[in-house]
Amino acid sequence: MTNHIQPLCQSSSVFYRTRFFLAAALFCLLLLGNAVDSLAESPREYERAKDELTALQKDTRRSKWREPWEDLAERFMTVYEKQTQWRNRPAALYRSALALDELARRSGRGSDCTRAEARYRMLWEKHAASVLADDALYRAARLRAEKRRDQAGALKLLEKLCAEYPKGDMADEAAAYIRKLDPERKISKPDTEKKTKKAKGKAAQKGTFQFHVRRVLLDAGHGGRDPGTQHNGILERTVTLDLAKRVGSILAAHGMDVKYTRFSNRWVSLDDRADKVRTTRADLFISIHVNANPSPQVQGFETYYLDFARTSAASRLAAVENALKGRSAASREKLPASKLFQVQQQESARLARNIQSTTLGFLRKKKYATVDGGIKTAPFHVLRKSGVPGVLIEVGYCTNEREAAWLAQSAYRAQLARGIAYGILAYANRK
Ligand SMILES: [Zn+2]
Repeated sequence: MTNHIQPLCQSSSVFYRTRFFLAAALFCLLLLGNAVDSLAESPREYERAKDELTALQKDTRRSKWREPWEDLAERFMTVYEKQTQWRNRPAALYRSALALDELARRSGRGSDCTRAEARYRMLWEKHAASVLADDALYRAARLRAEKRRDQAGALKLLEKLCAEYPKGDMADEAAAYIRKLDPERKISKPDTEKKTKKAKGKAAQKGTFQFHVRRVLLDAGHGGRDPGTQHNGILERTVTLDLAKRVGSILAAHGMDVKYTRFSNRWVSLDDRADKVRTTRADLFISIHVNANPSPQVQGFETYYLDFARTSAASRLAAVENALKGRSAASREKLPASKLFQVQQQESARLARNIQSTTLGFLRKKKYATVDGGIKTAPFHVLRKSGVPGVLIEVGYCTNEREAAWLAQSAYRAQLARGIAYGILAYANRK
């Protein structure tokens, strides 16, 4: 990440101690792993089907066939039915409906529309508190209006959405769609106590998805008098700025509002970076760094998000962040409420997963065999202060010759930036 950590890394006793710690931590994870996995992590079959769905959507030839959509709809449904302990189970149901929805849009058959809608309905009826319930309502309404030409039916679903999920993130879009279908129509507000209560319950549970992503703050690590790490001809402050600008222009092209902590080679304190989250009213914070390790064999693309967990590398990173943090206690904001903190952490984890998998996917497409360094956690001061979801990306180890050579190539940096940007977009669109 930085050259500040090198004194730590170069001390072999610390190095071996942290390795021992890591081994111990891994052992604990093995013991805990099974119990935790079933609740939090996506089943492998779900992830596979998700990747295939994305590929199918882009495949102009195969997407014209019926079978691949039917097959995916069934596979997602199987995950939904079997993974009864999985917390994100409604997502499998939603994707099953989505596959049928795509099929219906292509075939134009009424029976396909009916099946897709029935599956969406199952979601909002059985999982009314799910973050995807309003999305399901919205998609079902659009299918009705656009494929069945049933404007009245579509309006009914949209009004249900506005009434029951007035604070959900689909409410604005639903209202806009109502106006499009029927400009004269008044949009009903939830008025009965029961409805308000239900909506509140959903909003509370929905907590994690209250983050609307419109503005992204890109943080190019280091700069000016702080060069960052420097090996094999790679200078961290230059690479991070180049990447931030590339990521920013892609996001801006997709309609996002992009801000930067620095746009030139200048020094910015860590406190100023954190304050920028507040002053720019950013919804996401993305910090970009280049990694270094005393061992030239160590390589890989890694994404960190805010957490208290400590792996050896993570504690080194955190030490740097905390050592750099501003000294004026008066300027420090209060810590976010514990709830906000929890939500921020969950969202950051989801953002990290999107960035990690999308970037590696983009690099592999161009035949770069970049090592998957994985998603890691560290208690970053910058993120903790920000109150918004955020990640710190370590794009590669300049101490590794192969990665340093790649980072020197503009084609590699372009692909890295594409991966990071599309990971952010996927997160923002909840994919
Ligand atoms: Zn760094």
